[in-house]
Amino acid sequence: MSDRCDEALANLYLYLDSELDRVSSDRIRAHLADCPPCDGVFRFEHRLKIVVRERLREEVPPHVIAKIRAALETAHETEI
Ligand SMILES: [Zn+2]
Repeated sequence: MSDRCDEALANLYLYLDSELDRVSSDRIRAHLADCPPCDGVFRFEHRLKIVVRERLREEVPPHVIAKIRAALETAHETEI
C-alpha cells in the first residue's frame, strides 16, 4: 500500500460517482492502470453499485410508487 493507494481508495466513491475534478480523476485512473489491487477494488465497487441500483429500481413496490406519484400531484396542484 502506497500513499497513492490511500488516495485512490479514499476517493473511491467520489470517483465512481464522477464527482471528482478532472485532475484528480485522471490521477486515479492512471493509478488504477498501474496498480492491479486498487483496480480490482474499483471494479468490484463499480459492479456492486450497478447491482444495488438495479435492485433498488426493481424492489420499489407499486403501491409506494403510486403514493409518491399522488404526493407529487398534490404538491403540483398546491403550486397552482
Ligand atoms: Zn493502488
